[in-house]
Amino acid sequence: MTVHRFLSLGAGVQSTTIALMMAHGEIEPCDAAIFADTGCEPTPVYEHLRWLMSDNVLPFPVHVVSAGNLVDEMLRSAEGLTRSWGRPPVFVRTKKSVRTGRGGKVTRQCTGDYKIDPIRAKVREMLGVRKGRRVPKDVLVEQVIGISWDEQRRAKPSFHSWIENEHPLIDRRMTRGDCLEWLKRKDYPTPPRSACTICPMRKNAEWRWLKDNDPTGWSQAVEVDRAIRNGMRGIKAEAVYLHRSLTPLDELDLTNNDDRMGNLFMEECQGMCGL
Ligand code: SF4
Repeated sequence: MTVHRFLSLGAGVQSTTIALMMAHGEIEPCDAAIFADTGCEPTPVYEHLRWLMSDNVLPFPVHVVSAGNLVDEMLRSAEGLTRSWGRPPVFVRTKKSVRTGRGGKVTRQCTGDYKIDPIRAKVREMLGVRKGRRVPKDVLVEQVIGISWDEQRRAKPSFHSWIENEHPLIDRRMTRGDCLEWLKRKDYPTPPRSACTICPMRKNAEWRWLKDNDPTGWSQAVEVDRAIRNGMRGIKAEAVYLHRSLTPLDELDLTNNDDRMGNLFMEECQGMCGL
């Protein structure tokens, strides 16, 4: 059996910790790490990724793959030019929501289309297995995923017989806080939270962080939020918003904490969003 080992790198706290623990020999190293770029990560995430990819930080290559730009797709679908295939879980005002006073949420496609699929395609490419061809029975891929102990319900087995998902942080009972402590002990910079600028699965505190730390990313989110207001092709709704309260982003009171709201860390996600 030939075993290959790849790290799904989100460039957030958890996957960065795994990559650096591999570099220190504390976790079995991988053949390569793969970062799936949605084209709309916050600037601090791209800066952190560049640092991870710089000389002498990691002893293995980091491959950046992309299925395109998620923001471009959203803007095109807002103009009616394409269906919103890879849509994020945006919030919608429908006739029913007007009656109940609560917005609905569309099913998320972006994690699969923009994170999981491009990473899997890159793995197949590195194995030399063309699209549509079967992976040989004597090949196994260990897919290392940065889900921490405190978020273990996000961990899922692989759907593919040739891929085994590995969760070294869960195996070591390391929480996100433990990861931050490990990074601090080793004198590494604190990684930003990796999530698209336009990701609707945010608490107000996280929108505030974006506004304060990445004005360009915040402006992009405000622009997209405005552009999708009258709908996106393929989504049945009277109006579409990035914020659960169905309030335009630039009119939000971000001093209001909304701790009951789900975010990336409360929602199930098999990609590397937020990690
Ligand atoms: S961070 Fe949010 S918008 Fe981006 S791919 Fe993940 S779920 Fe989708």
